Amino acid sequence: MIIVLKSDLSEEKLHRLAERIESNGFYTRPVSQYSKLLLSVDGPNTEKIAKEVTKWQDVEEVIDGHFPYYLASRKCIKTNSVIKIGKGDNQVAFGGKEIPLIAGPCAIETAETALAIAEKVKEAGIKVFRGMLFKPRSSPYSFQGIGKNGLEILDEIKRRTGLLIVTEVRESSEADLVSDHVDVFQIGTRNMSNFQLLKHVGQTNKPVILKRGMGSNIVELLCAAEYILSYGNPNVILCERGIRTFEQYTRFGLDIAAIPSVKELSHLPIIIDPSHSSGKSSLVSALTMAGIAAGADGVIMEVHDNPEKAFSDGTESITPSQLKELIKLGKKVASAVDRRI
Ligand code: PEP
Ligand code: MN
Repeated sequence: MIIVLKSDLSEEKLHRLAERIESNGFYTRPVSQYSKLLLSVDGPNTEKIAKEVTKWQDVEEVIDGHFPYYLASRKCIKTNSVIKIGKGDNQVAFGGKEIPLIAGPCAIETAETALAIAEKVKEAGIKVFRGMLFKPRSSPYSFQGIGKNGLEILDEIKRRTGLLIVTEVRESSEADLVSDHVDVFQIGTRNMSNFQLLKHVGQTNKPVILKRGMGSNIVELLCAAEYILSYGNPNVILCERGIRTFEQYTRFGLDIAAIPSVKELSHLPIIIDPSHSSGKSSLVSALTMAGIAAGADGVIMEVHDNPEKAFSDGTESITPSQLKELIKLGKKVASAVDRRI
């Protein structure tokens, strides 16, 4: 159960209110976000105490226990949130009119290939680079990423190109390790429900791309976002990256309906990943267009200048020249839905 309190409530009053609830056998946690003050209450039969709490003078609203998220919802914030990454001229915003594209290889392989790809995607007009060092792979025998040895490579890419960098973190220690080197954390599909990690990045201020679990529904995605928001970090960008279906031709099914559905339920921006969802480079452009038409606030995709030689996910990686074609077409689709690339 979530109690929305009067936002100017004093620390002392909050403390007393929490104590009163705890004396009834519940656990409480104060949450402050979007200039709102909430008290999270958990324990058995919150319905009973909910009725009573509603009458208390410092309580604005009680969100009943069947509604599992609040900060991520339109109930809390009516307008679309715009999440900004980078600073000054380099700043990129997700959730506004502009639709930013994020591109780069599945993983950083060597300094030479990473720099070459970074320079090519930059030349195509990309501002945000995929700089993945830690790879969560289905098989323990697949390439696991070059790990912390790649931090210097990320620094070098930043120095030479000015690109903003996204990197995946699979556990809290990785988030701490990369924090000073990257602009955005990515939490991948396999870690959407890694709640300790969500709480950890929630205690930072770094933007987070939160990918939908491949077997998770939309409400579960929004609950995962709620973890990050409720621990203090408002900078959450959701990502639809495909869910498991019975179809074998594509790797996953990109859930296009998730885009407008998330927009109905949440104020947070949502981007798509046409690469991991399809598993096929030949489908990346078509899925990107569909996503933009459906209202996606950004696209993250895999680009490699020599896909056959890629250490991972070469089959779904497009080349820099295919990226340029995709951008050309994307501009037209974006303008048809009153957006911009
Ligand atoms: C990735 O983007 O590098 C990745 C592993 O994606 P996902 O978590 O969607 O599989
Ligand atoms: Mn990949």
